[in-house]
Amino acid sequence: MSGGPTFTVVVRCADPRLEHFFSEPQTRALMGLVPVREPLDEAYVSNVGGLLSFTGAAAPRLVHDASLLGTLFGGGAARVVLTAHSECGGYIAAVGGEAERVKRRQIDDLRTTARRLAESAPALLVHAYYLDLETGSVEEVS
Ligand SMILES: [Zn+2]
Repeated sequence: MSGGPTFTVVVRCADPRLEHFFSEPQTRALMGLVPVREPLDEAYVSNVGGLLSFTGAAAPRLVHDASLLGTLFGGGAARVVLTAHSECGGYIAAVGGEAERVKRRQIDDLRTTARRLAESAPALLVHAYYLDLETGSVEEVS
């Protein structure tokens, strides 16, 4: 991360089962986060479904919020970590219960949102990850 933004905006689902991904040094490292969270260096945007609330017509809201956080706390720049996860109740409620279908939609939303953020706000450095609750794996989505 040398030379990159020191402030990070993490977009996550409110699902409490995700907590270890953001507190364990090993999984944090897979998302490019420093081993131990520095509260003033990370902001969490969290709601049920995570990214789901910022798809479609609501997409500009995330561009606005991430840019504002970067301005307020990152000296104008920020790294954005977008996440989606398996067994997500928010996505299952919206898309249905078939796991592969849910994951396809989540990967699609991660890519679409990452592209939109990067295009709309060049000061944001965006990465996207899929978190698997069963295996504990962190998969980068590009
Ligand atoms: Zn969820």
